[in-house]
Amino acid sequence: MDKMNRRDFLGLGAAGAGFLATTALGMTPATASAKPIEYGPAVTLPDAQVPALTGDVLQHVEKLPIRKDVDVLVAGGGVAGVAAALAAKRAGKDVLLLEKTTLLGGLATIGLINYFEPLCNGRGKQVIFGMCEEFLRLSMKVGFNTLPKEWENGEPKEPTNKRYTNRYSPQIFALQLTDLLHREGVQLLFDCIASTPVMEGGHCKGVIVDSKSGREFIPAKIVIDTTGDCDILYRAGVPTRQGGNFFTYWAKAITLESCRKAAEAGNIRYAFGGRNGGTAALSGKGHPEGMPLFTGTTVDNVTDYLLKNQLLMLQKLSKEDPKSREVITLPTMCQFRETRCIIGDHVFVDTDCYKHYDTSIAAICDFTRRDRVYEVPYGALCKAGYDNLLTGGRSASAEGFGWDVLRVIPPAIVTGEAAGYAASVAIDRKKPVAEIPVGELQKILVGANAPVHFDDSLIPSKKEENK
Ligand SMILES: Cc1cc2nc3c(=O)[nH]c(=O)nc-3n(C[C@H](O)[C@H](O)[C@H](O)COP(=O)(O)OP(=O)(O)OC[C@H]3O[C@@H](n4cnc5c(N)ncnc54)[C@H](O)[C@@H]3O)c2cc1C
Repeated sequence: MDKMNRRDFLGLGAAGAGFLATTALGMTPATASAKPIEYGPAVTLPDAQVPALTGDVLQHVEKLPIRKDVDVLVAGGGVAGVAAALAAKRAGKDVLLLEKTTLLGGLATIGLINYFEPLCNGRGKQVIFGMCEEFLRLSMKVGFNTLPKEWENGEPKEPTNKRYTNRYSPQIFALQLTDLLHREGVQLLFDCIASTPVMEGGHCKGVIVDSKSGREFIPAKIVIDTTGDCDILYRAGVPTRQGGNFFTYWAKAITLESCRKAAEAGNIRYAFGGRNGGTAALSGKGHPEGMPLFTGTTVDNVTDYLLKNQLLMLQKLSKEDPKSREVITLPTMCQFRETRCIIGDHVFVDTDCYKHYDTSIAAICDFTRRDRVYEVPYGALCKAGYDNLLTGGRSASAEGFGWDVLRVIPPAIVTGEAAGYAASVAIDRKKPVAEIPVGELQKILVGANAPVHFDDSLIPSKKEENK
């Protein structure tokens, strides 16, 4: 490891370090073009060779149990992963979804981001449909909701400024996502981390996972990375972009006063308020001066974020009357917006607004500005040269404010959905994912009530950026 110190190797992605272990599968775990992969202590499987410590690198050979192969392996059960798994399953494929925590939904549930940004253009016209609308309606079925009455029965007859959004119970929605996947026959492994893609050139043979069962290998025809952080595709060597994140951390809390208001209104949703560690807004306002942005892609950085936020929240709480309030849920996921995304065959940007693409897989809208409608080209989900790797959700290929537009819950669901159906087309057509007949994918999406193009009547005569 010339010219590299331990810190470089462990945390900062210095080029030149490689992961040197080989598995007894006779394949080489991804080196991500010699990107470092960090492992814990040496494995002690019966046949493992004695680990050899060489400088800063642990070399070992291990034999891994191989689980039954699947058509489509989806890594990460946030809303994008749930949509991807469901779509591939609905297309008739054998699907396995891996989730490293014990609940589905990701930021939209355990991250306590329980709000669907708008599915409409801000004038009463719906733009986003498909599984996004299905999930929004699902989120209202058992828990509370805040759907504007104008949207109760679908698209309103009259124009309205009320946007098609919903705030919901994150806990109940997580249970509903589990129920949905269970009912539809998606196999699920909870508390299971997708660690390492096993690559042969640009082809992924499957993924090494870590769980209560130990380390195992799962062969798959197609792998969809919906970890939100693009961990799997990054380790596979797919080019990625690193994001930066502000100091934001909030929990759900109730107070005597909020409970009283909820009781008076007869609506439990008024009981919930929040308590913060970091209070930075989307714009960065409130980010402490001099504090570096968080990458969210190394264990040290994640721990630093959690330590700072949790200690700050405790400090703030200690100034309150303990009898007056209770924190009922802490986020069990880092509230990072943009950690890593692929640099795919198309990079989605804000100036994609109002543009049509032949290869579009979804029509979406902007959550801050009315009227702005976009199409997401299929190339945002894959990279030529990596023949069976896809992504969706907040790690789809995007840049600048385009990344903000593309990563929020509604677009994350529809890009996840498209990735799931794309995986199915690639398997059926025996094609690399980047070369599938996109027209066929579009037909499937349209058939699933997920239009891929926006209607030109939505383009305002004056293309202004209204709030
Ligand atoms: C502070 C903040 C405020 C936001 N506000 C809003 C808002 O109001 N409305 C809105 O629509 N959007 C909002 N968003 C954005 C939105 O919540 C997310 O972008 C969206 O939910 C992302 O979904 P996803 O499925 O792509 O990723 P994630 O939600 O990140 O899901 C990834 C999943 O993968 C799992 N995972 C990760 N690594 C592994 C692994 N190696 N193996 C197995 N599982 C793994 C995680 O546990 C998680 O369940 C906000 C985001 C933040 C951070």
